Amino acid sequence: MQTKSLLTPFKNKLSSPLNKKEIRVLQINLGKRCNLACTHCHVEAGPKRTEELSSEVCAKLIELIYRFPQIQIIDLTGGAPEINYGFKPLLEAAKANNKQIIVRSNLTIYFEDGFGDLPTYFAQHQVRIIASLPCYLADNVDQMRGTGVFNSSIKALQWLNQLGYGQDPNLILDLVYNPQLPTSEKFSLAPEQSNLERDYKMFLQEHFDIVFNNLYTITNLPVGRTQMHLERKKLYSSYLQFLESHFNPSTAEHLMCRDELSIDYLGNVYDCDFNQMMNLPAKTHNGEVLTVAKLLEADSLDLIDEVQTAAYCYGCTAGCGSSCGGALV
Ligand code: SF4
Ligand code: SF4
Repeated sequence: MQTKSLLTPFKNKLSSPLNKKEIRVLQINLGKRCNLACTHCHVEAGPKRTEELSSEVCAKLIELIYRFPQIQIIDLTGGAPEINYGFKPLLEAAKANNKQIIVRSNLTIYFEDGFGDLPTYFAQHQVRIIASLPCYLADNVDQMRGTGVFNSSIKALQWLNQLGYGQDPNLILDLVYNPQLPTSEKFSLAPEQSNLERDYKMFLQEHFDIVFNNLYTITNLPVGRTQMHLERKKLYSSYLQFLESHFNPSTAEHLMCRDELSIDYLGNVYDCDFNQMMNLPAKTHNGEVLTVAKLLEADSLDLIDEVQTAAYCYGCTAGCGSSCGGALV
């Protein structure tokens, strides 16, 4: 792509390599099955996808959770993690080992047949729920995620509140904001996180009597369906240039890829979920790619010296930065 070459390679922008710190977070992507098919989904998940964890990989992941006390957080994602194989066994292994458990939930799954027990199950296991609600206005959410998704999300949030979520200090409910996908070169970064959180809290309390803990703003990285959308609109290169023009070096220290391993449904290891979707595996200093089986064999999680990066990393380092836990600085 012609303008792509105008970008400074991300690596050259950094004053020092992105070294890996001690691993503390295990993010497991259980598969691509999802009851929704959102326009911005970087996983390209949907109801027709069939890829999901196998029993063999699940068993190895459980062994990993039991073996390494250094893992503090188990972060379950997908797809809708709840409908992919291994969800409850992994969650229960994490609970048995006193890990903090995060589930990235689309909320609407609780209304699908067979999943109505989830809110109570989450409360019983003191799961931290991080739920996508890309806007507090119905039309914007339904446009991005499908008709009726906003109303289901509101009902789900009210249900979680009734169980104590957003109020009990052990039942944390966080929301995620994504900007709308751009349709012209008038790009913008996510609004300032704490101001937007205040607006979300006021609106949701006033209109729906909903409370929650934190709002995370996440930049749309040009990966998966977002990349396809940008390419269709011929905005891919200019969007990357926009992100590069907002590069903020102080975000590098806090990037989520520094202390996490991201595992796919096949048991392959990546530095983050975006690299996973772009098939850019994590590598040891010898250039060897890793799997869960190799981590167990080596009896170590700390085999990676440097994070693998690509042009889309400008999305995580633009402005206040972006990660699965929101702004970075
Ligand atoms: S963004 Fe989340 S809820 Fe939407 S299709 Fe992707 S995985 Fe499913
Ligand atoms: S996409 Fe973001 S989290 Fe992933 S390697 Fe790049 S900077 Fe790190």
